[in-house]
Amino acid sequence: MRAWEVAEPGPIEGELLRLVEKPVPAPGPDELLVHVRACGVCRTDLHVSEGDLPVRRPGVTPGHEVVGVVAGTGGAVSGFAPGDRVGVAWLRRTDGTCGYCERGAENLCPASEYTGWDADGGYAEYTTVPAAFAYRLPEGVDDVALAPLLCAGIIGYRALRRAALPPGGRLGLYGFGGSAHLCAQLALAQGATVHVLTRDPAARRLALALGAASARGAYDEPPEPLDSAILFAPVGDLVPVALRALDRGGVLSVAGIHLSDVPPLRYESDLFYEKELRSVTSNTREDGREFLALAARHGIRATTHVYPLERAREALRDLKAGRFDGAAVLVNDRPPQS
Ligand SMILES: [Zn+2]
Ligand SMILES: [Zn+2]
Repeated sequence: MRAWEVAEPGPIEGELLRLVEKPVPAPGPDELLVHVRACGVCRTDLHVSEGDLPVRRPGVTPGHEVVGVVAGTGGAVSGFAPGDRVGVAWLRRTDGTCGYCERGAENLCPASEYTGWDADGGYAEYTTVPAAFAYRLPEGVDDVALAPLLCAGIIGYRALRRAALPPGGRLGLYGFGGSAHLCAQLALAQGATVHVLTRDPAARRLALALGAASARGAYDEPPEPLDSAILFAPVGDLVPVALRALDRGGVLSVAGIHLSDVPPLRYESDLFYEKELRSVTSNTREDGREFLALAARHGIRATTHVYPLERAREALRDLKAGRFDGAAVLVNDRPPQS
């Protein structure tokens, strides 16, 4: 099969992410073998490819927004059969036994493993996933439209919950890529007023088209104080900017797995009056199931740009350069091997 692998982390403008031929992987006893149909391109894939995240598996295949079809099952799997459509997301495995897992915070499990970082992901014709971490997907939505929901959507949902937006509240979104444009749709469907703050004019247009009340530059002030804000851009300089835009008692959640350094905060302007700064770490499977159900109910759809699998490097370069709005999705047009 064809698969991309990170020969060595480095600038995506180079050739260190390589397309190779390798054997179709064998699923472990508790795993599914999945024929990949579509795989979303997430900023985390860029962080893995460029070395912003440490190497956890040399030569790893990135990709953790996979929509595919079960092509085989390990001997200990029940409840899935060949032909079932499934989703593969970022959280791949936890120990299920530590204190975090036991209290329902499996996203904090110190033994957790991640698709496309600890194990090969979906920038390939086939991938594997532990059956317990595979998602069943709603009917009637095509593969490409579903793929970005599996990380961008789920993380945006967790970030929105962490931001503790009151009903009908005023929400600021800093950065407006794959995750934010899905989060905005959910917040709007739930009655929020959404203000978008991003440097990219195309993203500002998309925000207004989706129903945002305003769209301004990333360092601009929103037109009204915010009850909650979410920082999607991986830019630490925006943390004090967003904190100052909060109303008293407001909450800022930081959605990214990687953030450039946060400059010094000024207590009086940035945190006093009980403002809160929170991070968001991965997600639980419960977050995923809740979000996929809400997305189906509210008709949340990713704005997508399709690239064939063999153009993954170009998709990541375009993501880095901000050359598209919404989300890029890789499609594998080769049928399953018999
Ligand atoms: Zn655990
Ligand atoms: Zn992701």
